[in-house]
Amino acid sequence: MSRPDHRAPVRLPSLDARERELETCTFCPKLCRSACPVSNAEPRETLTPWGKMSLVNAMAHGDVAVDASHGEPAWACTGCGRCQKRCDHEVPVGAILREARAELSKGGVRPAALEDIEARVEESDSIMRRAADELASEAAYDASSRHAILVGCSYHRGASEEARLALRVVYALTGEPHRVVSSCCGAPLADAGLPERAEGRKRSLGTSMQGLASLVIVDAGCAQHLIVEPAPGLPKPVTLVELAARHLDRFAPAPGLGEEPVRWHDPCRLGRGLGQYDEPRHVLARILARSPDEFAERREQSGCSGAGGLVPLTFPEAAKGAAKRRVAEHQELGGGRVITGCASSLKSFRAAGADADDIVRWMAKSLGVERV
Ligand code: SF4
Ligand code: SF4
Repeated sequence: MSRPDHRAPVRLPSLDARERELETCTFCPKLCRSACPVSNAEPRETLTPWGKMSLVNAMAHGDVAVDASHGEPAWACTGCGRCQKRCDHEVPVGAILREARAELSKGGVRPAALEDIEARVEESDSIMRRAADELASEAAYDASSRHAILVGCSYHRGASEEARLALRVVYALTGEPHRVVSSCCGAPLADAGLPERAEGRKRSLGTSMQGLASLVIVDAGCAQHLIVEPAPGLPKPVTLVELAARHLDRFAPAPGLGEEPVRWHDPCRLGRGLGQYDEPRHVLARILARSPDEFAERREQSGCSGAGGLVPLTFPEAAKGAAKRRVAEHQELGGGRVITGCASSLKSFRAAGADADDIVRWMAKSLGVERV
């Protein structure tokens, strides 16, 4: 973590508006402690939601120095929102820690692992442009279409086959070829404590899509970033699962797919972030000709894969531990296949040894567009 320079604030004054919530946590008997995927994986008091909020509160009041050691826990949050669901006061810990990251960043306190975050986002743009070029031969692709699909840089980086399938699925459902968005929406910058940069990217995306008729978003993280606070000019976005749920009759039961256990994992930003719990279940139920298998911790109480909030960069061991815990729950319940709808959790589950798939692959199987 980089050290604050001489301009670093002695407190975090912009968090004054959050004083009530920070005080509520500081004097709370830690009722949400078992909810946090980060402190469950790396059991340190300062990494519990209570610990993180208490440290931010102490920095906001100037009771402790605004420095690397006190600032570090603010980056130990996936933004999963699970603690908020356990909290009687519904304190939005993830959102407040994100605001704290922005304040800390302004003071020069940011993890060393995030020092090149802006370069990474630029690199994502290049990867997305190349991916769009590679998809140009698909019948589902039309660079001048009034309909756009934003797959998300995490898919293009680590799950390019799923990105291709997403384009085909959207074409099969709508009958319209789509243009492929080839610039990052800015969500990683918001997680890195650079909200102005994130907002700038979101606004440019909106400007570049002015006049388009529709936008489908595949990645849950991009979807939450663009749907909760949309940018001017952006066509009203829908998630891929939302679109699929509007066309349920198009999904035929695929022979053999429902025979092994197929367990749906609610991605945090799709479920708690956007309230889309039923849509993926309805789609999977059509494809499997039965309800999907379930985790014990599901829907509002779903466990987190540890892959959000840049935690795989800032606290990699905690991120891996969270994924292993989720996969262990899956195995204890009978194993089989775990299905998700976000590229980051897909990658984490696979790395943790699970047979994991993205829901888009199952949609493609059912619609008969999986193979060329
Ligand atoms: S989020 Fe709620 S339950 Fe958790 S520490 Fe804060 S006040 Fe307590
Ligand atoms: S939002 Fe999730 S990761 Fe962040 S403190 Fe709460 S439970 Fe932990």
